[in-house]
Amino acid sequence: MSIPKGHLPCLPEQPDRPDCSECLDRPDRPEEACGVFGVYAPDEDVARLTYFGLHALQHRGQESAGIAVGDGETVTVTKNLGLVSRVFTESDLDSLTGDIALGHTRYSTTGTSTSWENAQPHLSAIGDQVIALAHNGNLVNTSELRDSLRGNGVRLRSTTDSEVIATLIGHFTQRHNHIREGIRDTMKLIRGAYSVALITEEALYAFRDPYGVRPLVLGELPLGGWVVSSETCGLDIVGARFLRDLSPGEMVKISADGLEAEQSVPAEKPSLCIFEFIYFARPDSVLHDCTLYEARRRMGAALAEDAPVEADLVIGVPDSGVPAAAGFAQASGIPFGEGLVKNRYIGRTFISPTQYIRQQGIRLKLNPLRHVIAGKRLVVVDDSIVRGNTSRKLVELLRDAGAAEVHMRITSPPVRWPCFFGIDTDSQEQLIASAMSVEEIREHIGADSLAFLRLEDVVAATGSSVSDFCMACFDGEYPVEIPESVRRGKLSLESCG
Ligand code: SF4
Repeated sequence: MSIPKGHLPCLPEQPDRPDCSECLDRPDRPEEACGVFGVYAPDEDVARLTYFGLHALQHRGQESAGIAVGDGETVTVTKNLGLVSRVFTESDLDSLTGDIALGHTRYSTTGTSTSWENAQPHLSAIGDQVIALAHNGNLVNTSELRDSLRGNGVRLRSTTDSEVIATLIGHFTQRHNHIREGIRDTMKLIRGAYSVALITEEALYAFRDPYGVRPLVLGELPLGGWVVSSETCGLDIVGARFLRDLSPGEMVKISADGLEAEQSVPAEKPSLCIFEFIYFARPDSVLHDCTLYEARRRMGAALAEDAPVEADLVIGVPDSGVPAAAGFAQASGIPFGEGLVKNRYIGRTFISPTQYIRQQGIRLKLNPLRHVIAGKRLVVVDDSIVRGNTSRKLVELLRDAGAAEVHMRITSPPVRWPCFFGIDTDSQEQLIASAMSVEEIREHIGADSLAFLRLEDVVAATGSSVSDFCMACFDGEYPVEIPESVRRGKLSLESCG
């Protein structure tokens, strides 16, 4: 398959650069894996609506960003490595005219993070028709599908599972002569987590895996038009009204004929990623009718009940730890304070730091307020401990700033299992809680005390029930069967069993 001339993406391929994740101490927490935003709004500036939608979803991926537009005749895309504010210029947005747009912010969990080809939306052709696709999630049967496509003589251009999805949709669409059936057949074959939006020159499609692992919501613009977004904060920024979540296994098509919805594959056990509540989603987003800010406050309050401690001040590790710290403070009666300031725009810079800057580690991201911290017995509320490195550096940073005691309180249980559904946790042997007890972790990070929130308290804070979630990184119960070859890469040998 080749993309027709004239439809090639409009920015030059970037040379590979050093992966800054190796340069800038990888964050010691699971990392998000992409934000998706789509809009159908004839007569509106859809590229700018998408640009602002992507700003709201920037926290879900900071490696690359892209916007594709359908203008009734074709689809064009602008995408590049870097933050949304860096990728698009006024003139880029001026040139992206049309009725439909699709945007994506990417954090890679498959494929090379620094390759332009792997940035999304992914552009491909079905015969003469160009489509753009944006994906949040991760398939677990990608290798199998890639092998089978290659066996059929299909050449793949990138290393992402998103390209596999687009290629399958193309294949089945050509067979049925209808893209909706192409998507339906593809959904029957792909396994894992996927919240996908796709545009043609005249329609916006969105579909979600049968487990509903990653969120995807639908909204309506007041002047007419529809929006799909990974989170409700993407609707809010463009003034769209939240209508509903896309259901697990559902596909919607939005075009001049309006909104058409169908249950394309049967829904399985609901398995929304519980880490969306703990850390990934923005505090002003709403999931399962619950504002993330409130859920995190309740998690902090539950920690105060479960693991009280005598202290002078409660601080949160920005951003997700802050509402939880406020909840802890309220429930415990210990004053709440701002003790850490986040260097918000460091993101995933593609500028290589010097050796000296690299050695500053956590200081690149967090700066302590010494006059607030000095001499205080601190409760420090954070969302998770994955490898333990950053927590250790954080405790050291706070002690250097004069903290008398540091009591770590974590709003999730210990992470013992890796994620296969689009979140970049390490292999099991790198997860500190898979090998150490809570007391050993406390000693490793150098805290005066350490407590994790119980899983039942996390669930209670969401207002939903245990049966609504994927909680596999805490309990090892994966909602989708993980092929042996995929398990082997991330699980320790005895777990592979
Ligand atoms: S394994 Fe963990 S991070 Fe991955 S989807 Fe399940 S709960 Fe979320």
